[in-house]
Amino acid sequence: MEKEVKKVQITARRRFFTSVAQGTGLGIMGGLLWAGYAEKAKGSPLTLRPPAALSENNFLRTCIKCGLCAEACLNRDSNIDRESGKPRPGTLKMAKAQDDATIGTPFFVPTDVPCYMCEDIPCVPVCPTGALDVSLVTDKNGELDFTMMDMGIAVVDPNSCIAFWGIQCDACYRACPLLDEAIKLEYGRNERTGKHAFLMPVIEMDICTGCGLCEKACVTEKPAIFMQPRELALGKPGDHYVKGWDEKDQERVANQSEKDMTTHGKRSQEDPTDYLNEGVSFE
Ligand code: SF4
Ligand code: SF4
Ligand code: SF4
Repeated sequence: MEKEVKKVQITARRRFFTSVAQGTGLGIMGGLLWAGYAEKAKGSPLTLRPPAALSENNFLRTCIKCGLCAEACLNRDSNIDRESGKPRPGTLKMAKAQDDATIGTPFFVPTDVPCYMCEDIPCVPVCPTGALDVSLVTDKNGELDFTMMDMGIAVVDPNSCIAFWGIQCDACYRACPLLDEAIKLEYGRNERTGKHAFLMPVIEMDICTGCGLCEKACVTEKPAIFMQPRELALGKPGDHYVKGWDEKDQERVANQSEKDMTTHGKRSQEDPTDYLNEGVSFE
């Protein structure tokens, strides 16, 4: 009888420890999942957003993840396959847990489906919150202007681009909707052979929209031309540097207050000789 009681006690203890272990395991798993979700909710600086998106932080604050932009992109008139009469995959996707973008927000991956720079830009005016700001793609006459799109910028890796090796290739150049404007071919002499020419793709940074059609068209195994968000790909000289030869830059200065043209106290107040000689003994 005593033996029976002991057996029951041991079984009950085992069950208790098993359920504690299971509970802890589930807790850890839940924690990991939550950590993963929280990480995704922060977003990635590499995400390419639809045309006319606000800056990433403002976009994340404003987008309500309704999917209307992606729906408009998928159902646009120009997205019908002429042969089958069926819609092709849309450019814009709504991020899922496995995607490298904040869950539920619209983004695109040029190597899957680039943006076709639709003239009527159907994805933008449907946005109910202004996360896609129609004013960013509207010209002075109030007309939608697809050349004002700014999703990112194309970057060329000269080490992998075969045109920089002297092999003739203009796949990216031909794919660009702003042919010979956003991307140009620069002539160079091939010093190695002495008789051939290089025709190298060069991006006009102010004109490129970041549509990704050139990345999709690139013939190398991993595209030698690829999209980057502008904030990531470009430097910033600071508002206090002014191009004396550039009319637009002159206008910018004329419209700016003196406060905007200062270095905002970032410049050191120290005497440079003090700074350079810091810690040096002259005795
Ligand atoms: S402009 Fe680009 S993202 Fe917008 S609907 Fe057209 S293809 Fe889609
Ligand atoms: S339509 Fe606007 S609010 Fe809706 S998912 Fe697209 S960007 Fe976000
Ligand atoms: S991303 Fe490429 S194809 Fe699109 S505008 Fe820029 S250079 Fe042209």
